Amino acid sequence: MNRTLVLGAEIDVISFAGAIELALGMMNERRGAYVVTPNTEIVLKAKNSPALRKAIRGAALSLPDSVGVMIAGRILKAPIEARIPGIDFAAELLSRMAPEGKRVFLLGAKEGVAARAAEALIAAYPGLVIAGTGNGYFDSREEIALVERINAASPDLLLVCLGTPKQELWMHRNAARLRVGLMAGLGGALDVFSGDVPRAPARWRRDGLEWLYRLLREPRRINRAVKLPLIVFAAACSRIKGERKTWQRES
Ligand code: UDP
Repeated sequence: MNRTLVLGAEIDVISFAGAIELALGMMNERRGAYVVTPNTEIVLKAKNSPALRKAIRGAALSLPDSVGVMIAGRILKAPIEARIPGIDFAAELLSRMAPEGKRVFLLGAKEGVAARAAEALIAAYPGLVIAGTGNGYFDSREEIALVERINAASPDLLLVCLGTPKQELWMHRNAARLRVGLMAGLGGALDVFSGDVPRAPARWRRDGLEWLYRLLREPRRINRAVKLPLIVFAAACSRIKGERKTWQRES
């Protein structure tokens, strides 16, 4: 698998199906690997944050979640194969896990959201086992206890939905002491799985307009929508400066 660099953030060159197969393999190996799903906001934050770039670099899979990352990749001639929205990736993984009775732990979002997401996921994917849930508003002193609680639940998959950069830094920091199959940092996915935030209709999603749909529903997200021209501009500057790199990953 090739990795490419978009404004300092490493992104894997892989298809949706390829990412799912790799993730299922990693889950079975249980070596605590983690998946990141960089969108425009994450890539722009990583540009100014060595710690976030390091956390992204440490990911076993880095999937391009947004249209902005794809456009930036194109401008930089970074050969990104496909956009892989984190939420679609998670939904497909869960559907593959369910028939085998695999276990998922849902961490993140406001109190009660993960439990509601758990109910919805059990209904959507019969056979799936909810190993545990926890809200995403804990302080650093509670981190050890949280890791122990997750380890005791022994999930095959841990969804870490704490927003960026908290979720990426948290997975990077805790990867070595977590005994889980695989982790994935998925932003607002639990709000969507719980039904609190509706997903855009399929057509909007297909056209890469999910961000516009969310903006129309939640105008306070305007500060995120304006990131699209920012990433395009940053990619154009970077191309002019000749920054670009692609390489073969070891695993
Ligand atoms: N969140 C959390 N802990 C925090 C900050 C945020 O659990 O300390 C949750 C927040 O409640 C939301 C998610 O992280 O469920 C971030 O969602 P957002 O829509 O910002 O992420 P996106 O999907 O746009 O990356």
